[in-house]
Amino acid sequence: MALITNAIKGTLDLLPAESYKTQYVEAAVREIAENFGFYEMRTPVFEHTELFQRSVGETTDVVQKEMYTFSDKGGRSITLRPEGTAGAARAFLENGLFNAPLPQKIYYLTSCYRYEKPQAGRLREFHQFGVEAFGAGAPAQDAEIIALAHTVFQYLGVKNLTLEINSIGCPECRQGFQKALKAYFEGYKDKLCDTCLSRLDRNPMRILDCKSPVCSQIAKGAPKILDYLCDDCRTHFDAVQSYLKSMQIDFTVNPEIVRGLDYYTRTVFEFVSNEIGAQGTVCGGGRYDGLLEELGGKPMPACGFGMGIERLLLLMEAQKTPFPEPKRCDIYLASMGENATRETARLAQELREEGIAAQFDTFGRSLKAQMKYADKLGAAYTVVLGDSELESGKAQLKNMADGTLSDIALDDFTGAFQSVLLRDALKGVEGADADLSETDLSQLLGGLK
Ligand code: ATP
Ligand code: MG
Repeated sequence: MALITNAIKGTLDLLPAESYKTQYVEAAVREIAENFGFYEMRTPVFEHTELFQRSVGETTDVVQKEMYTFSDKGGRSITLRPEGTAGAARAFLENGLFNAPLPQKIYYLTSCYRYEKPQAGRLREFHQFGVEAFGAGAPAQDAEIIALAHTVFQYLGVKNLTLEINSIGCPECRQGFQKALKAYFEGYKDKLCDTCLSRLDRNPMRILDCKSPVCSQIAKGAPKILDYLCDDCRTHFDAVQSYLKSMQIDFTVNPEIVRGLDYYTRTVFEFVSNEIGAQGTVCGGGRYDGLLEELGGKPMPACGFGMGIERLLLLMEAQKTPFPEPKRCDIYLASMGENATRETARLAQELREEGIAAQFDTFGRSLKAQMKYADKLGAAYTVVLGDSELESGKAQLKNMADGTLSDIALDDFTGAFQSVLLRDALKGVEGADADLSETDLSQLLGGLK
C-alpha cells in the first residue's frame, strides 16, 4: 500500500483491539485518585512558550532540546506541553483556586510532547497520569502522593518496582551544594559534554542528570546533596520517610536522584523497574515549593508526580499482568432475508437502549458468515431470525458458552433477554439464588431500573 504519508515518528496509534487495556488503567487511576481526594483538571495542549521556559527551567534537557515550539499565525511562540505540572500550576493561579480550601488536589490524564530519540518507552507523543497537591507544605503531603502512586501499582498488580527517594533541598541549602558541585566538576572540564560545560556556571546540578555515559560516570563521584541539607530540609526529609514507614511503603534513599526539571525542591522520587530496558522510570515526581511564585503567584508549597502510561503498560505486558476484558457483545442477532434483518435492527435498537451490547448484520453476509463473525466478536448469545421465526413470533436463543438453546418470544425480547443476563450475573454472586422465578427476576429488574 502506498500511503501518501505515515504517522509521525515516535507516535503510537491505539487500536480498538488493544484500547481496553489503556482504558482499564485510566479508569483505575481515576478511581484511586478520587479516593485520595484528587479531582480532574484539564488544561490546553499548548501554552505560551515562556511558561515552560520559566517553570521547567532554561538549562534542562526538556527546554534546551525537547520542546515542540512554533510560531502561530499571530507570531506568538507556542509550545506543545512537554509535561503537565506547568499548565496545571498556571491554571491553578489563573483561576484563583488558591482561594478555595487548601490543599487543592488535582489529577490529569494528558498527552505530552517531547522531541526525543524514539525507542522502547520513549516517545515523542506520550501520555501521563499526573497529580498535583497545591498549598500543602507538610511532609504528610509528599507521603500521600507517593502512597497514591504506590496504590496504583498495587491495584494494577505491577510488581518489582523500587521506590527511590531523595531530597534536593531548598534554594538556601542548595547554594552550598552547587558551589561544591562546581568545584568538583571544574576538575573534569576537559571530559564533560558540551551541554554540561554550559551548565557548569549556570546550574551545575543539572550535570547530575546528564544521560551521557562519560558525564554520568563523573557524576558518580560528585558531592552528595544529603550532606548539604539545612536543618529544616533534613527534618522534612526524615518526616517523609517516617510517614512512608508507617504506611508500610518500602523505599530506598538514592542520593543520585535529582530529576530532570528545575522546579523541584526538597523531596524527589522515582518508581523504577529493571524489566523494561533503559527507560525504567515509570513514575517521577517531588515537591516544587518555588514554582507558583516563579509563575507570578503568591508563594505556596506544592508537590506532585507524573506517571508514564505507555511505560506502565509496557511493564504490565512484560509482567503478563492480567487485564480484565470488557464485554464486547452480549448478543448477536443473525438474520436471513431483508424482513428479518429489519426486525434484528429493531431488536438491536431496543436492546441497546437498555444498555445491552447487541449487534446485527450491517454487511449483508450469509447466515454462515454471520455466525462466524458472531464467534469472532465473542458474542455471549446468538439468535437467528428468518421468515419462520417472524411468522411464529419466537426464536431460539443460543448460549455460545455451553451451546444450550432456549425459546425466546420476539414481542418481549428485550425483557426476556434482560432476565437471562441477570440470571447469568447472579450465578457469579456467592449466596445468590440462581433458581429465582421469573417473577422474582422481574421484580429485581424493576428495582434496578
Ligand atoms: P526520563 O529520565 O526517562 O527521560 P524524565 O525525567 O524526562 O524521564 P519526567 O519529565 O519526570 O521524566 O516525566 C514523568 C514520567 O513520564 C517519566 O517517569 C516517564 O514514565 C514518562 N515519560 C517521560 N518522557 C517520556 C517519553 N519521551 N516517552 C514516554 N514516556 C515518557
Ligand atoms: Mg527525559
